[in-house]
Amino acid sequence: MNPAREQYDVVVVGKGNAALCAALAARDTGASVAMLEAAPPDESGGNSRFAGGVMRFAYATVDDLKRVTDLTDAEIADSDFGTNTTDEFFDDLFRLTSFRTDAVLSEMLVTKSLDIMVWLRAKGVKFVPNFGRQSALVNGKRRFFGRMPIEASGGGAGLVQSLDKAVAAAGIRVFHSTRAKSLLQDGDRVVGVQASASGKPVEFIAKSVVLACGGFEANPEMRARYLGPGWELAKVRGTRFNQGDGIRMALDIGAAPYGNWSGCHATGWDLNAPEFGDVSVGDQFQKHSYIFGLLINANGKRFVDEGADFHSFTYAKYGGAVLKQPGQFAWQVFDSKVTKLLRSEYRIRMMTKVSANTLEELAPKLEGVDPKAFMETVRGFNAAVRSDVAFDHTVKDGRGTTGIDPPKSNWAQALDTPPFDAYATTCGITFTFGGLRIDPSNGQVLDVTLAPIPGLFCAGEMVGGLFYFNYPSGTGLVSGALFGRLAGTGAGRAATDEAQV
Ligand SMILES: Cc1cc2nc3c(=O)[nH]c(=O)nc-3n(C[C@H](O)[C@H](O)[C@H](O)COP(=O)(O)OP(=O)(O)OC[C@H]3O[C@@H](n4cnc5c(N)ncnc54)[C@H](O)[C@@H]3O)c2cc1C
Repeated sequence: MNPAREQYDVVVVGKGNAALCAALAARDTGASVAMLEAAPPDESGGNSRFAGGVMRFAYATVDDLKRVTDLTDAEIADSDFGTNTTDEFFDDLFRLTSFRTDAVLSEMLVTKSLDIMVWLRAKGVKFVPNFGRQSALVNGKRRFFGRMPIEASGGGAGLVQSLDKAVAAAGIRVFHSTRAKSLLQDGDRVVGVQASASGKPVEFIAKSVVLACGGFEANPEMRARYLGPGWELAKVRGTRFNQGDGIRMALDIGAAPYGNWSGCHATGWDLNAPEFGDVSVGDQFQKHSYIFGLLINANGKRFVDEGADFHSFTYAKYGGAVLKQPGQFAWQVFDSKVTKLLRSEYRIRMMTKVSANTLEELAPKLEGVDPKAFMETVRGFNAAVRSDVAFDHTVKDGRGTTGIDPPKSNWAQALDTPPFDAYATTCGITFTFGGLRIDPSNGQVLDVTLAPIPGLFCAGEMVGGLFYFNYPSGTGLVSGALFGRLAGTGAGRAATDEAQV
């Protein structure tokens, strides 16, 4: 059977945040644009749709924030939004990636992050202050911490919905249940995509192709191959459709792999969550308040510094630490002193939780844990807590431990006030860090000799080189939008003025 044929100036593969931004930017150049989405409409939108929607961008003043969101005079007077200056953003990115982040890509991300927020707003995305998760009332004023006071209204789902609307208004055609399978070439030039649309072959002919179809986080074979033994056992926090197709298709035609191929973003995630993300639950299987409690493994031992930093700067690597524990699980244990500080995800119905009025009663309820060793760990921890420093959850308070390994560096409090609550977690993978190498001037994919591949661009999780070992929360959506816009503009210009590529 001859495949059906469709023809556009630009074909964008994927329909998450990066793809939607790429499609809009390509359309702004005057190109005709189609989007191919492997998922059916009710599951479409990629990991972007599962995202909490927090956005990390550089801002120095309230005036910068006012370019992104409407703030009333009362909100400004009653809030301390802090700052995330370009220097602070650079420091966080460099420190967390052990200075491995690509110098050019990270400079673009940091210095253009405010502009891309303004661009998203102009495309119809609504942003609001993140009152729920990143702030607290301190002396009558709302203090934001973690350098990330703004989120998309309605979370990642709201962001995708707004961009969907913009795409429809721009006359961009979206093909759902249409999975790209390989790239079509004429010599070295990419001239389209071979796809399967609800099981039927279709050739999408294009002057430029943008791959924005995620990493390989939902593919257990690729996880074990690249991330290492055991990673096939992780749960997937987001979409089941990110199977590494885009990366494979590009590598098949000689694209250069780039970045931290054995690294990924992974967090603590409910032990009994489903294999893949559930759009009706979104990100709520995560458990990010471990900074206020203890993380306990099967041997009854602690294994990380729970209070090393705000969760924004440790959560993306602690999922991997949980995966490496015996049985790939850890219990998060809290006492009632911190119950009111636990995030909203500790109050959903679907979670694995046990409670008790004494630690002796709690110990045997922690399924899979050596109860005697757990009691010894808690006794040792309680004795090691520094009581000479005041507890303050709105700053890194320096209230740590002495003489135990691993230490707890901040927010350490003895576990002594009943009732005690414990939550069972495993590792949930978010996205993979390894990707393709791009020309930072236009998002074009480079081949292994570092020459641009004519007609091929990429964006989003597929761009390698930004994140290594760890990741500051809220960066994925901003970088997806930034490099999506870059690739879409590059692809659109190349298609409407072919002489440029
Ligand atoms: C639970 C969770 C919470 C998160 N919270 C945040 C947050 O608060 N802030 C933040 O910045 N980041 C967050 N992230 C990370 C963020 O979601 C990602 O960095 C970002 O969404 C990646 O965007 P993307 O467009 O590259 O990929 P995706 O949004 O995953 O889009 C990939 C698209 O490609 C499609 N696709 C895959 N293969 C094919 C194929 N062969 N053919 C056609 N289509 C294909 C998929 O169906 C999907 O539409 C979170 C992620 C998760 C999972």
